[in-house]
Amino acid sequence: MSDLIQQWNNKKASTKKKHKKFVNQLRQLHGKHLDRWAEGMHNEVFRSIDCMDCANCCSSIPAMINEEDIARIAKHLKLSTEEFNAQYVTKDDDGDTVLNSTPCVFLEEDNSCSIYEIRPKACREYPHTNNFEFSQNLTVHAANSMYCPAVYHILDRMMKNFPVV
Ligand code: SF4
Ligand code: SF4
Repeated sequence: MSDLIQQWNNKKASTKKKHKKFVNQLRQLHGKHLDRWAEGMHNEVFRSIDCMDCANCCSSIPAMINEEDIARIAKHLKLSTEEFNAQYVTKDDDGDTVLNSTPCVFLEEDNSCSIYEIRPKACREYPHTNNFEFSQNLTVHAANSMYCPAVYHILDRMMKNFPVV
């Protein structure tokens, strides 16, 4: 386990409130500047965190899945969409369509994804801290910092440098 993942494990619970407050502070910044800043932090943090050492998102958060994902993955598995839905899909408490098992049924023992090339869009985009998506997802970052060491460290580094944009 990398040092950053270990640090996240030790500190995530005690930092939760601070991160939540900080994310609210970030709302005062202009989206484009904020996204550029977050992009830099995302790249810096992911140079030191290998998702293959972690897989916590795939282990603990039911992945959201849309109709295009379902059609693509069902085809790959040689199932009809009805069969795929019956076997792998459910609704969560918010009414969102998600894969029905945590850890994810497609997560392999070595932390790889057995459908990586065709994985759901939500999996490709998680944790929403790059590609100029950060500012559109402010409401989820504080919660995600409890699940994703990268989000935790991105917020932490931004907090230490605030307001440098
Ligand atoms: S589909 Fe793949 S990337 Fe998405 S949660 Fe499952 S194992 Fe992870
Ligand atoms: S929780 Fe974050 S760091 Fe861990 S595998 Fe998922 S995206 Fe990568």
